[in-house]
Amino acid sequence: MDGYIHSVETFGAVDGPGLRYVVFFQGCPLRCLFCHNPDSWKMGEGEKKSDTELIADILEYKSFIKRGGVTFSGGEPLAQPSFLLSLIRKCKKHGLHTAIDTSGVINIEQSRSIIAEADMLLLDIKTFDAELYPKLTGHTIDNNLATLEFCEEIGKPVWIRHVLVPGYTLVKERMEKLAEYLKQFKCIEKIELLPFHKLGEYKWEELGVPYQLYDVPVPTEEEMAMAKEIFGLS
Ligand code: SF4
Repeated sequence: MDGYIHSVETFGAVDGPGLRYVVFFQGCPLRCLFCHNPDSWKMGEGEKKSDTELIADILEYKSFIKRGGVTFSGGEPLAQPSFLLSLIRKCKKHGLHTAIDTSGVINIEQSRSIIAEADMLLLDIKTFDAELYPKLTGHTIDNNLATLEFCEEIGKPVWIRHVLVPGYTLVKERMEKLAEYLKQFKCIEKIELLPFHKLGEYKWEELGVPYQLYDVPVPTEEEMAMAKEIFGLS
């Protein structure tokens, strides 16, 4: 079975527990204003690879990642469901831990059987503000929250990721509401707050896509400290 990937990282240390092989899938239905990989948006572009080819490459690193695992990131991995499921099953057959790094944009009815087979989810919550969500991503929030609720229902471990963008998500009241909402979920093992950065700005220029966050500063240390306190991480 073939799929489209954007790139791979063979010694990833930030996308899940331990040292990991990270597969960045090509294609994403969202258009986050702060996206640093807009070149991963278009479906059907990128590098065409077969599942067997990719697994063979992953297995080359098995001794390094045996205490970590494999993370399927993007783009949006759940937007290529059959390819993703096949890779998860093959990894598990070889005793490798699997994580899906997702925005939860795909309808949960389509993705629940795949999520159920992975060992854990890294779930991006772009914002908890239902009005801001479409302005920030181009989609509604419903599937994002439904994905978290499904993980709670089946006891699937989740690490939440939340990008702090000054004036958008780095707003005290918005963070307080999200922190309060997340408290009820027993499936959440960790919350990671990621500061907005501008490293992908040049990619928007290269693609000729208007970038709206030129004037938005990166968060200050004080702002990050405030956010950590709100989420109980300090
Ligand atoms: S979900 Fe990720 S890849 Fe997709 S637009 Fe948002 S930041 Fe970019």
